[in-house]
Amino acid sequence: METADAIVIGAGIVGSATAYYLAKSGLDVMLVDRRHPNAGGTASQACAGGVRQQGRAPEEMPLAIYSIALWGNLEAELEADLHYRRHGMTVVTDDENLIPSMAQRIESEQTLGLNIELIQGRQLHDLVAGLSPQILAGSHCPTDGHADPLRTINAFVEAARRRGARIKWDFPVEDLVVEKDRIIAVKSAKGSVACRHAVLAAGYWSQSIAASAGIDLPFVHIPLQMMVTARRPHALDQVLGWVGHGISLKQVPSGGFVIGGGWPGHGTPQTYQTQLMPGSMAKSARITVNLFPSLAGVPIVRAWLGIEAFCKDEMQVVGPAPGVDGLIFATGFSGHGFATGPGIGSLIAEFIANGQWSDMLKPFGIERFNT
Ligand SMILES: Cc1cc2nc3c(=O)[nH]c(=O)nc-3n(C[C@H](O)[C@H](O)[C@H](O)COP(=O)(O)OP(=O)(O)OC[C@H]3O[C@@H](n4cnc5c(N)ncnc54)[C@H](O)[C@@H]3O)c2cc1C
Repeated sequence: METADAIVIGAGIVGSATAYYLAKSGLDVMLVDRRHPNAGGTASQACAGGVRQQGRAPEEMPLAIYSIALWGNLEAELEADLHYRRHGMTVVTDDENLIPSMAQRIESEQTLGLNIELIQGRQLHDLVAGLSPQILAGSHCPTDGHADPLRTINAFVEAARRRGARIKWDFPVEDLVVEKDRIIAVKSAKGSVACRHAVLAAGYWSQSIAASAGIDLPFVHIPLQMMVTARRPHALDQVLGWVGHGISLKQVPSGGFVIGGGWPGHGTPQTYQTQLMPGSMAKSARITVNLFPSLAGVPIVRAWLGIEAFCKDEMQVVGPAPGVDGLIFATGFSGHGFATGPGIGSLIAEFIANGQWSDMLKPFGIERFNT
């Protein structure tokens, strides 16, 4: 049987980052995935690429701020162009009744250490040229931004490989082998790997793998839609969100405008097959034009979906598995795990290498559902 100090199950943003940081800390690491990271259908591949801190739950803010600091050096660290842009994000509203609650959120995020401010009227339209005149105010965080998800995952995988990690595609883990309350191996139809540590980072699919060790992860799967317009000359630096309208908008370096915001479609996790809902695509396109009117008439050239694991409290499960030494969960990111993936990976690697579980991760253990 092959062996590894640590096996990471799943090569999305979380697993690939974890494998990289584990390899960097000198461990003998194996990263396995049922498919190839570019095969489509998973959350990390489909993701909108937003790298944001604002709008996070208070318990997640320290992790988000820590992660964004890592992003600042990630291209140099991974020796890759991730198309990372840190030009800010502004979440806007056209409803004056929502401005007080926006101001309140900004104030509480400031007390958590985030650089964020309320911007209104002329000042807002000077900051974000092209916004609809109906937009009244926005919360602006200058250190939020966006990056290319596929470039980022592939860069982590290749950097992990350069640091000595072994990578296996087409390796569908079926069982966690537990003996005397300790993980000793993972099993797949393609063979077994003995390990001292296993990090379960298989997105929605973590649920059935955890069940093999008798652990229930309270997840549902939600396939989310994305689309991108034809290329246009550069017109938007920031990421935009629109409160109450389910829209996120950014212009990527190639010139396309990427439109997301959590619009669900259809999907089957067993086969990774997904299906768009044309009605909701049309609706989100119309809302986007209301937000950024110069997009009227610009064709949508591609749309896609990814299957995301939503935990029942919409917060990730990250932590050692109770009753199974050596098994660590890093899963269930509920629509917001791309930005924090590198931070999670780095902190899990620190734990496996040094035995220190970061305070930043303490709110996310599975035990929270037992109280
Ligand atoms: C459309 C969309 C837009 C999003 N936009 C943003 C955003 O702008 N910003 C943000 O922060 N977050 C965003 N998210 C959320 C973010 O993408 C996810 O939270 C994050 O990518 C989850 O990563 P993951 O590595 O946990 O899981 P996944 O990306 O789902 O990866 C899991 C991996 O495990 C593999 N796997 C499955 N079963 C097995 C098995 N049995 N054995 C081995 N491997 C297996 C899968 O093939 C897959 O590669 C978005 C999500 C979606 C769907």
